[in-house]
Amino acid sequence: MTGAALIKGHTGDWEVVIGLEVHAHVVSESKLFSAAATTFGAAPNSQVSLVDAAMPGMLPVINMHCVRQAVRTGLGLNAKINLHSVFDRKNYFYPDLPQGYQISQFKQPVVGEGVVVIDMPSGEPREIGIERLHLEQDAGKSLHDQHSTKSYIDLNRAGVALMEIVSKPDMRSADEAAAYLTKMRSILRYLGTCDGNMQEGSMRADVNVSVRRPGTALGTRCEIKNVNSIRFVRQAIEVESWRQVEILEDGGSIDQETRLFDPDKGETRAMRSKEESHDYRYFPDPDLLPLEFDQSFVDDLRAGLPELPDAKKARFVSEYALSEYDAGVLVVERETAAYYEAVVDGEGAGCDPKLAANWVISELFGRLNREGKTIAESPVSATQLSGLIKLVEDDTISGRIAKDVFAQMFETGTDAAAIVAAKGLKQITDSGAIEAAVEKVIQASPEQAVQFREGNQKVAGWFVGQVMKATQGKANPKLVNEILKKKLGG
Ligand code: ADP
Ligand code: MG
Repeated sequence: MTGAALIKGHTGDWEVVIGLEVHAHVVSESKLFSAAATTFGAAPNSQVSLVDAAMPGMLPVINMHCVRQAVRTGLGLNAKINLHSVFDRKNYFYPDLPQGYQISQFKQPVVGEGVVVIDMPSGEPREIGIERLHLEQDAGKSLHDQHSTKSYIDLNRAGVALMEIVSKPDMRSADEAAAYLTKMRSILRYLGTCDGNMQEGSMRADVNVSVRRPGTALGTRCEIKNVNSIRFVRQAIEVESWRQVEILEDGGSIDQETRLFDPDKGETRAMRSKEESHDYRYFPDPDLLPLEFDQSFVDDLRAGLPELPDAKKARFVSEYALSEYDAGVLVVERETAAYYEAVVDGEGAGCDPKLAANWVISELFGRLNREGKTIAESPVSATQLSGLIKLVEDDTISGRIAKDVFAQMFETGTDAAAIVAAKGLKQITDSGAIEAAVEKVIQASPEQAVQFREGNQKVAGWFVGQVMKATQGKANPKLVNEILKKKLGG
């Protein structure tokens, strides 16, 4: 195993071990067992059917769209799809769980073991095991801040389909956990099975953390519940692993418990001691038949999957000769990858793939980030960006001037060629004109000319700068260098 960032305690090194349970809302217009809508942000209790409110005698009816979404997700996670799976009742009391039990899957989940490849800065691929994926209902939401003495309940979320995706305890640092969540979100978004929006709670993670001496058996874990951003997951892992190390180094032991992360205080707090699965009295839900699939059902869903990030990345590396890093950055979001491909070989476009990657990653992403815009909101279309890159490729403008042109394109939405023509930015490639400029500079600076002949590199650079200045940056730099050498002998 690599990638372990060891904690240096005062009694020696400790290794952090992390397993994540990701709860992902299924993209579906209706709930897992009812026809009520699932729109985020709707008026409280406006999307609640009698089933969701758990009226006596109501029967759940499985929403096959949600089942297909779970199977597609399993396939996207390279996981085993179980042709036979079972819904169980998980019994516990919660004010926002009107049934008094949650319909979930326990011993026979719809998806079994799989694997996710995470992208680490080292470029070395790391595989994180998936233990299982099961379908379950979400609970409603208690609102404690609406009234000074009362609590309110909003059941819109009650019954919304959730996928719980459980990883193996394969991660060894906060960085790996962050990379895992980033990759998971990317895969879910490609598949369109979860929008991955952590602020809205569509995706949240329970973070299991333990520490051990390197090479020894797994330590006792604590589970930090419902962490709702990747940044908080990192912080929670940092503080929780240190908390455990300090207890162990003081001769204490870790109690298996459920904890909460408080981002304001930067600490985790005990919530409850860990319940065991037998506390929930799981049993097969008598209102629902087991899920039974034919292999052809699974095969058809597999055939309909889009190209996923890993495959796309590999293709970008082989087809466009991009670095692993550049390809990895471009494929995180499906829309970005599509934009890039449209720049390289879209209709009416077409340019050098490596140049295009540089432009998209540094210039376009940089500018979009500063403006808080998504790629869909880019004022510069893929075809327009391609047009600009082509002008650099055929030496119409220099790379330096292209950056100014790009800034104007971003502000005005105008094509590169039009800006270049209107502002007279076309590069000077006429060697006569450049020679004249070079001669003028040489005449004005005889001392520097001597130093240039003596091979002073700094002065050589200074000469290029002077000629560029004299031509408003429009001289072709390659020609400037050649002519300088010819005139001064280099
Ligand atoms: P539970 O219902 O008790 O939360 P699950 O099987 O749903 O159990 O999830 C257990 C999670 O804890 C998994 O993500 C697993 O990888 C992780 N885990 C198990 N043992 C350890 C350990 N010693 N240290 C860190 N994580 C662990
Ligand atoms: Mg759990």
